[in-house]
Amino acid sequence: MTTLSRADLVELDRTDPLRHFRDRFLIPDGIAYFDGNSLGAMPKAVPERMRQVVEQEWGVDLIRSWRINGWLELPARIGDKIGTLISAAPGETIVGDSTSVNLFQVLAAALKLRAGRTAILTEAGNFPTDRYIAEGLAALLGGGYNVRAVPTASLEESIADDVAVVMLTHVDYRTGRMWEMDRIGARARAAGALTVWDLSHSAGAVPVDLTAAGADFAVGCGYKYLNGGPGAPAYLFMAQRHQEATALPLTGWLGHTRPFAFEDAYRPAQGIRKARVGTPPILSLAALEIGVDLVAEATVAALREKSTRQTQIFATLMEQRAATFGFRIVTPADPARRGSQISVTHDSAWPIVQALAARGVIGDFRAPDILRFGIASLYTRYVDLWEAVTHISDVMTHRAWDRPEFHAPSDGAT
Ligand SMILES: *Cc1c(COP(=O)(O)O)cnc(C)c1O
Repeated sequence: MTTLSRADLVELDRTDPLRHFRDRFLIPDGIAYFDGNSLGAMPKAVPERMRQVVEQEWGVDLIRSWRINGWLELPARIGDKIGTLISAAPGETIVGDSTSVNLFQVLAAALKLRAGRTAILTEAGNFPTDRYIAEGLAALLGGGYNVRAVPTASLEESIADDVAVVMLTHVDYRTGRMWEMDRIGARARAAGALTVWDLSHSAGAVPVDLTAAGADFAVGCGYKYLNGGPGAPAYLFMAQRHQEATALPLTGWLGHTRPFAFEDAYRPAQGIRKARVGTPPILSLAALEIGVDLVAEATVAALREKSTRQTQIFATLMEQRAATFGFRIVTPADPARRGSQISVTHDSAWPIVQALAARGVIGDFRAPDILRFGIASLYTRYVDLWEAVTHISDVMTHRAWDRPEFHAPSDGAT
């Protein structure tokens, strides 16, 4: 590839069909933000919407809002909107609780649908909460179940006939490597196992077709590429064909078929509504809806096209301008196998990430040696990629990372 210049990237921004979306986010001056895959930026429409929900809907309309302002419908309404981003049919996705809680729900349900099988299969290095929740559930169910975490390379051949559930994160949070969902789905189906996908680093960033992949269950975060705000509620997908037979373990009153009849006996709601648990967080849902709407307006296809180009350019710039400093790109070079991030390893990853943050280039450190740069194509500009690599090169050339303040021990948070 020819050597890229800053002017090339400025030109790409000028002709970018998504360029106007950046204006709809608050991005502080002097910040090149590469953490949209951890906490998405704030849509500018959020404060006004918050004011409206707080002052009018809560303040004035009070309890009547559950009906007149549609509060009760928000989890299913936003769920369907997220459903369009992951090719779910209407009525297959609902919003509520955290990704961790939703995982517990769907894993327990899947084990029940595959009674007699005893293993939850996952890959070593999966996101910790996925593993912890699976192990906690296995412990709760008594000694009969086990969580089998195998190396990525042997995942497929490990789908044995005692496997009830294959639980995978579609895009790996550390490396950005992406699973072939169709292929794993077909393998699992052939072996009689169900699939549970964690889409936390996928929805809003890469095309996902749960229907084509024959996915059984899925969960994911609202606060990453969906820009729902800190602690935004998560989503839960349950394929239509399982809804009637599925029994979820958290039988809260809002999952009842008639919550406001206050019956003594639990009777699950029809369809996806049985996945509701307790009272939904209305303020958080109102913020999340704005973030989801922005992704839908831009379209996943356009975001993916830009993101593929941006990740490619970032990797190229790292090779052209930072190759001599000992970085190694660990994100797959094949665009079909990577999500919307570029991760590189370096022995001094932690102080380098700190030194970059001090210059306004905000990325992530992931133990033990990964620098992670998430690319949220709704608002990340091409020129931001240039600035980031310029700072990386400068920090390395002048050993700016080697100052004592950047060596304070990592607690894992950035
Ligand atoms: C961010 C993330 C989570 C977070 O789960 P919460 O319960 O919402 O905190 C779960 N899984 C993956 C793969 C993630 O990247």
